[in-house]
Amino acid sequence: AKFIVGLTGGIGSGKTTVATLFSEQGIELIDADIVARQVVEPGSLGLQQITHHFGTGVLTAQGTLNREKLRNIIFNSPSELEWLNQLLHPLIRTKMLKDVENANSPYVLMVVPLLFENGLDSLVNRTLVVDISPENQRKRVLARDNSSPEVIDSIIATQMGRQEKLSKADDVIDNQGQISALEQKVFALHQKYLHLSKI
Ligand code: ATP
Repeated sequence: AKFIVGLTGGIGSGKTTVATLFSEQGIELIDADIVARQVVEPGSLGLQQITHHFGTGVLTAQGTLNREKLRNIIFNSPSELEWLNQLLHPLIRTKMLKDVENANSPYVLMVVPLLFENGLDSLVNRTLVVDISPENQRKRVLARDNSSPEVIDSIIATQMGRQEKLSKADDVIDNQGQISALEQKVFALHQKYLHLSKI
């Protein structure tokens, strides 16, 4: 079985930035957001089940999933949300583990925004948390997206708190400083993971 590092951190913490540095070291990435889209792409079992349950009204003219329509349905219905999660979570887990088995690097990095919240930490050998303050999260997401401070704060509020994430982390990468400071930190972690993956 392949050694898996689970990378997580709150919105705007720098997961994508850190993951790119690992990939520059030749490490294969498995991104939960990408896998979550793959399991409902046209022709997938996931999309078949969704249209069987909700009807073809949740499809676009092109036959892809209309996320906004689906969101509107589940927004007011906890039981429909529950149904959808029961369908998608196992499909996502299975696809991620299949991607792990097909990977060719000495270890793999699973990038999962809600790693602890969704219990996906049980799939990985080691967890790595990208850590920044909520103030920096707000600042960096504001600079990146055109969303409002209120929307960003509400997303931060739904995610696990900073201290709780830190207490669950095996490793922490501090991203309060400059992007240029990350390279050395990633390199040191990479050496550590290469070593651990050989044990
Ligand atoms: P999300 O959860 O929203 O997908 P993320 O955790 O993947 O975010 P990134 O997209 O990597 O975070 O970083 C958020 C923004 O902050 C990006 O615009 C990125 O370029 C910038 N950023 C990352 N690290 C730093 C840093 N150390 N200093 C300044 N800006 C940074």
